[in-house]
Amino acid sequence: AASEPLLRVSNLQGHYGDSHVLHGMNFEVREGELVTLLGRNGAGKTTTMRALMGLLNKRTGSITFQGRETISLLPEAIGRLGLAICPEERGIFASLSVAENLELPPVLRPGGLTLAEVHDIFPRLKERARSRGNQLSGGEQQMLAIARILRTGAKFLLLDEPTEGLAPVIVEQIGAVITDLKRRGFTILLVEQNFHFAATIADRHYVVEDGTVVDMIPNDQIEANAGRLATFLGV
Ligand code: ATP
Repeated sequence: AASEPLLRVSNLQGHYGDSHVLHGMNFEVREGELVTLLGRNGAGKTTTMRALMGLLNKRTGSITFQGRETISLLPEAIGRLGLAICPEERGIFASLSVAENLELPPVLRPGGLTLAEVHDIFPRLKERARSRGNQLSGGEQQMLAIARILRTGAKFLLLDEPTEGLAPVIVEQIGAVITDLKRRGFTILLVEQNFHFAATIADRHYVVEDGTVVDMIPNDQIEANAGRLATFLGV
């Protein structure tokens, strides 16, 4: 149905061994939306993304994508449905060139961006095509990490703290790229600790604490909640 969200997460529980870290996450993302998970270090944001990709071994509850239950699918099957994660540690090959990194996306399905399309979004990656991953600046590495997942054909992008450790001017460039991806029709779930940055690009925000969603804030209400959020996020 048209009203069905693209992604719906219901009572998602997650464990690392005996350690119970997700305690019933509930949220949804509609097609074309840019939604954030905001929360302190250790709140469970990365673990939630790992669960969505099938990378967290112990997970229960329900995750539907395009109406289809994915809770027990393997990561590759989830990738083939059109989800991809850009992990916090970026996941690029340090010893391979930019061009080579772009030839090695983790999953391939129809609709992946061509090299020309990637270069259109990230002109800097064309200039740096022969440089190795470990010769790139932090911002360039982040651009390459995002570019790799665009090559996969994914339509739903999970971006885990893409701005972490980057200078403000580079954060602004990453924000422009993410906005461009939304304009191109990608649906995006973004993990952030910097809600001021998140507010410049997102439609809605879920606040995560101790493995559950404790609040949903539409973007136009974020500044009105700034004081409370700052306390909450410990910033
Ligand atoms: P961060 O910004 O630090 O990534 P986060 O909100 O993404 O924070 P998670 O990384 O999902 O938080 O961590 C949630 C909880 O799970 C934390 O208590 C963390 O210590 C624990 N945890 C994370 N990874 C593991 C692991 N591999 N083994 C055991 N516990 C883990």
